[in-house]
Amino acid sequence: MHTKTIAELSRALKQREFSSEELTRACLRRIEKHNPALNCYISVTGERALAQARAADASLAKNEGGALTGVPIAQKDIFCTKGVKTSCGSRMLDNFIAPYDATTVERFDAAGAVMLGKTNMDEFAMGSSNETSFYGAVKNPWDTAAVPGGSSGGSAAAVAARLAPAATGTDTGGSIRQPAALCNLTGLKPTYGRVSRYGMIAFASSLDQGGPMARTAEDCALLMQVMAGFDVRDSTSVDKPVPDYTATLNDSIKGLKIGLPREYFGAGLDGKVAQAIDAAVKEYEKLGAVVKEISLPNTSLAVPVYYVIAPAECSSNLSRFDGVRYGYRCKDPQDLLDLYERSRGEGFGAEVKRRIMVGAYVLSAGYYDAYYLKAQKLRRLISDDFKRALEQVDVIMGPTAPTVAFNLGEKTDDPVTMYLSDIYTIAVNLAGLPAISLPAGFVGQRPLGLQIIGNYFDEPRLLNVAHQYQKVTDWHTRTPKGFE
Ligand code: GLN
Repeated sequence: MHTKTIAELSRALKQREFSSEELTRACLRRIEKHNPALNCYISVTGERALAQARAADASLAKNEGGALTGVPIAQKDIFCTKGVKTSCGSRMLDNFIAPYDATTVERFDAAGAVMLGKTNMDEFAMGSSNETSFYGAVKNPWDTAAVPGGSSGGSAAAVAARLAPAATGTDTGGSIRQPAALCNLTGLKPTYGRVSRYGMIAFASSLDQGGPMARTAEDCALLMQVMAGFDVRDSTSVDKPVPDYTATLNDSIKGLKIGLPREYFGAGLDGKVAQAIDAAVKEYEKLGAVVKEISLPNTSLAVPVYYVIAPAECSSNLSRFDGVRYGYRCKDPQDLLDLYERSRGEGFGAEVKRRIMVGAYVLSAGYYDAYYLKAQKLRRLISDDFKRALEQVDVIMGPTAPTVAFNLGEKTDDPVTMYLSDIYTIAVNLAGLPAISLPAGFVGQRPLGLQIIGNYFDEPRLLNVAHQYQKVTDWHTRTPKGFE
């Protein structure tokens, strides 16, 4: 059962090949067996899952329910789940039981999906390797010496190791796409505003976006159908009709115009990754697509601009964690200042503190114009690059990450090298565009991803373009050794 995609599971459940309860028990058994080695779940919610599974079976018995009824999924531990610990990978929220559900959680529940548990992640989604989690690093099932990527590393490892058929992720600068690439999954970062952020713990609010992580583009389409849509409780949610994401998966891509940004294939890109991406592009040419070189001239500014804007927003968002209202509180505070200082000092990890300090600095009166305001201006230039490019081509393709997964511990002492691993993903968030990463090959036993960037709200096209590739290739069907 665990080898099936969501689309296959959905059909099998409807035909009563097995029940949701049997399927859920099988997933829980796999989690019990493999999670100690991989560390991809922070919480496993077995009883809640079995109750949901039994309810789903009751609906299925009456021939009711939709595509996800009875299908197990995992939620990144950034999404608030009522009555369930929601830690965001931080000691600060280690004792936090959310009093309400995130819209994404509510929607999956209403769709009849079964939540298996909450997945490990970089602390407050800050990281590219899942090594900043208070709960320890996650291991990549393709090679346990390697990182799974981050910040949605637990979700990626869980789906790759077949400990969940699919999972949610969030992407502020690449955290859905990069771990998807490093774990051989398909991950979609939707257009900013497409998926509600209500109840999704904020990192950098102008960049954060939730989205699906699964084995195939078809599965991502099924998950998006549930996640996408207007939410009155999120002021950045866009009130725009939700298309049928599966309806266009099989459309022909003959004549599709693909842009290859010169800047995505230069220094810094691993030679073997470049070869694999070239091969993927050739596959698209065989399918009738037309390739054109384009330029995104401000690409090299994306990482520095992001590391002003994201810390600025996080320093503001994270000021709510003060040891007073909820979350971690230090022992025996002497006075109010001591309470704030020690609660935050002890509750946050090193990377989060680094970002808060950078953010407070770039927002401070003397430096605001020089850093924050400047970064906002450059952000516009980066968006304009994409705007111009997407007037000439339908989609933009390139690598998701410059290398395959690096080793655990390899970049932890050098934040700048770590930050540079997001060079191809970060600009997309600054522009608010949608992008998908899909499996496109291996270097040794470590997988790599092809990134496809589209225009605003063009998720149906991204899913269609990814699905057409998956019909003629088999990278996405491969399973890591030991997890078959
Ligand atoms: N790696 C980037 C960072 O650390 C992006 C993280 C994310 O997308 N949440 O900020």
